[in-house]
Amino acid sequence: MQFRRTALVAALSVVALTAAACGDDAEDSAAEPTVAEAPEFEAGTTMAEIAEAGTLRVGTKFDQPGFGLENLEGEVEGFDVEVAKIIAGALGIAPEDIEWVQTPSSVREDVIEGDEVDMVVATYTINDKRKERISFAGPYYEAGQQIMVASDNDEIDGPESLKENPDAKVCSVTGSTPAEQIKQYLASPDQLTLFDEYSQCADSLRNGQVDAVTTDNVILLGFVSESDGAFKLVGEQFTQEPYGIGITKGDVAFCEFINDTLQENEDAYIEAWESTAGEVEGTETPELPEPAPCA
Ligand code: GLU
Repeated sequence: MQFRRTALVAALSVVALTAAACGDDAEDSAAEPTVAEAPEFEAGTTMAEIAEAGTLRVGTKFDQPGFGLENLEGEVEGFDVEVAKIIAGALGIAPEDIEWVQTPSSVREDVIEGDEVDMVVATYTINDKRKERISFAGPYYEAGQQIMVASDNDEIDGPESLKENPDAKVCSVTGSTPAEQIKQYLASPDQLTLFDEYSQCADSLRNGQVDAVTTDNVILLGFVSESDGAFKLVGEQFTQEPYGIGITKGDVAFCEFINDTLQENEDAYIEAWESTAGEVEGTETPELPEPAPCA
């Protein structure tokens, strides 16, 4: 079934290319989510406000294949995008009424606190430091930090190799958990190069300006799959990165609504995975994790 689906998507892509048409890959590969008709919410809740506004503002990544990537038609696609569409649907918001806001790692708490978005779905690890400023629904996925290098690199085979190769440079992203967690494995702070986005790290790895990139395994697998064999992952995952949906601090009702929505739409969640990150080689279909209590 999965094979047939992939074959169909491939066939559609070929047709689109042959006809030089402006196809819509996101629509080819992901099922449209259910959109509730005129759902009712208690007055004063975030759900009521969003339903009334008729639009959901979602912060996500625009440069991460499989999770949040802006395609050539200017539309975003990926697992985080599909998860946001499931939640939007339960609020009565159709996908075309979602406002996508590009949200690099370092500004995620800022855009929530500044009310620039209603939620952030952006490979966003739940942790206590972030919980001082915002709240998280979820988790909806469990990733783990790993290392990516050029395919012909046989010196770096995990985080421990960084101390053994003190001239090697490793790239990550400002404001991310991997940038913090890799520090203990470095011979000196100079080994760490930071950018705003992981695609900049991938470009630097391709150019030889850095020797490794570190972040969550599933993000790296997306870059490996787009690298035409130039990149590979090495070593095991060495952290746990439970992904949450960032919302305004203390909005327990909205957090519970998001958690209930995901639990009630497990089939759509699996479908969302399989049509996005699940198409990347090396990924496995997750089970929807039990949500943490909202606070
Ligand atoms: N999950 C990690 C984090 O939230 C790394 C991925 C990212 O930067 O988006 O910091």
